Amino acid sequence: MKQVEQLLKYQEEDSKLLKIEQDAAASEERKNYSQAKSFLTKAPEKLEALDAKARELSAILEKLNKKYAEIEETLKDFDNLNELIDEGADISFYKKNVAQISDKLKAIKSEVSALQKAVKESDEEYKALKKKTIATQKEYAEYSETYKKYKETKLKEMKTVQDGLDKLAKGIDPEIFKKYQAKRSEKIFPVICAVQNDRCPKCGTELSISGKEKVANGVTECEYCHRFLYKD
Ligand SMILES: [Zn+2]
Repeated sequence: MKQVEQLLKYQEEDSKLLKIEQDAAASEERKNYSQAKSFLTKAPEKLEALDAKARELSAILEKLNKKYAEIEETLKDFDNLNELIDEGADISFYKKNVAQISDKLKAIKSEVSALQKAVKESDEEYKALKKKTIATQKEYAEYSETYKKYKETKLKEMKTVQDGLDKLAKGIDPEIFKKYQAKRSEKIFPVICAVQNDRCPKCGTELSISGKEKVANGVTECEYCHRFLYKD
C-alpha cells in the first residue's frame, strides 16, 4: 500500500501543476495572443480570395459594359428610320426590332448595376479586412509581449511545483511512475482513484474478477479508462 500512498501524494501535488496548466490555457493572455495569431495566419489567404473575387467581378463587368456599348451601337442603324419609312419600308417590323433591342439593353443595364453593387461590396469587405489586419498586427505585438511575460511567471510557478514532484517521484516504482506519466499526458486526471463498490468512480466500469483480486492487494487499472484503482 506504500505505493498507493506515494502515488496519492504525488497526484495531490500534481493537481497543483495541472491547475496552473489549465489556468494558463484558459487565460485572457493566451486567448488574446492565440486569437490574434490565428486571425493573422488566415488573413492573407482571405485577402487574396477577396482580391481575386473583385478582379473576377470587374472582368465580368467590363465585358457587360462592352456588350452594352455594342448593342447600343446597333440602334444607330435605325437613325435613318424616317428615310426607310419614306422609302415605303414596313414600319412595324423596325419598331419591333427597336423594342427588342431596348429590352435587351434594359436587361444588361440591370445586370450591370447588380454587378457594380457586388464589386462595391467586395471592395468594402476587402478594405475592412485590410484595416482589421493592420490593427491586429499592432495588437499582436502587444499580446505576444504580455503573453510572454505571463508565461514566464507561470513557468516559474510550475518549476516550483515540479521540483517538489521530482522529489516525490523518487518514492514511486519506476514502472508505475512511467504509466502514471503516460496517463497524465493523455489528460487522464485524476490518474489514481479509490474504487467505489468495485467500480471505477470516474467511468463506472465494474472491476473484472482478476481486477478485484488485484485491487485487494494493491493497484489495478480500470479496463475502460485505464486509471489506477485502489481500495480505500
Ligand atoms: Zn474507469
